[in-house]
Amino acid sequence: MSQPEVSIPGSPVVPNMVDGDHVIQFSCHKGISCWNACCSNIDISLTPYDIIRMKKRLGISSTEFLKEYTVPHEMEKDGIAGVKFRPVDNGTACRFMKPEGCGVYEDRPTACRYYPIALLSMRKQDEYTDTESYALVKEDHCKGHEVNRRLTIADYRKEQGVEEYDELARGWRQLILKKKSAGPAVGAPSLKSRQLFFMACYDVDTFHDFVDSEAFGKLFKLSADEKAMLMADDVELMQFAFRFLKQVLFGENTIALDEAAAKARVDKWRARQMEIEREAAERLANAEEGMYENTDECIEDEGSCSRD
Ligand code: SF4
Ligand code: SF4
Repeated sequence: MSQPEVSIPGSPVVPNMVDGDHVIQFSCHKGISCWNACCSNIDISLTPYDIIRMKKRLGISSTEFLKEYTVPHEMEKDGIAGVKFRPVDNGTACRFMKPEGCGVYEDRPTACRYYPIALLSMRKQDEYTDTESYALVKEDHCKGHEVNRRLTIADYRKEQGVEEYDELARGWRQLILKKKSAGPAVGAPSLKSRQLFFMACYDVDTFHDFVDSEAFGKLFKLSADEKAMLMADDVELMQFAFRFLKQVLFGENTIALDEAAAKARVDKWRARQMEIEREAAERLANAEEGMYENTDECIEDEGSCSRD
């Protein structure tokens, strides 16, 4: 349903939330006066599927891609790890921008496909299904809004090949929304859980080795067929990563555990906790002992103690 457009001073985002039937006026084409202006000053967040497409395109591992072409960032102060494109050295332009246009056009990320539309995902606290709305981004430099071509957002998404990207990012967006909905009550995630989230979501090749490891195989029961499929297909592995994170971060069990191995891990964890507590108690007792010893010295020193 269309709504009249209202603008926020200083912001390129038109604040009206609209659905896929909303009609926009827009066209981007070679020869337009602003050609490449949008790619000259980038702030592009990447989804896990974007990374898989890009690393395949470049013929490198996800680990190499992350190191060479991205910077990590924290999404909306929720302690959720995110990844953005790293621009050119000492500049703001995209490293894939060429005079003739995008150098990775067929595999360009979701955000590039959506522009000038912003996707807004929302989720109610007790629901796992997210609802999607859109907002229009109107920046002064973008002359595409002045071209007389009208189409719905749904048609624009189809034209830009966004549907596949959105479908394959759904599990990742659900994880983010779930974390956001949990809010501060759950507290900031530990460094270990943030590292796990980063590895499972963005570094598919490291996650591949993790799933292939003996330790993982001992704890999680995967059939030979499922394991072979995951080892052979990055996209399947990525979707498995979302399930894995839902299980380890939010306790939604969908991957069978080896009961004995799981119990052994819990026992080991409990033993380690007891060890930590015992060490802390020992340290405290030693510190108190030391304090009394010093006090004795002070008393023996009769008045020369600096703590008087
Ligand atoms: S990936 Fe392509 S479309 Fe996206 S910012 Fe870079 S050059 Fe532009
Ligand atoms: S019309 Fe907009 S999206 Fe297209 S090149 Fe110009 S600034 Fe970029």
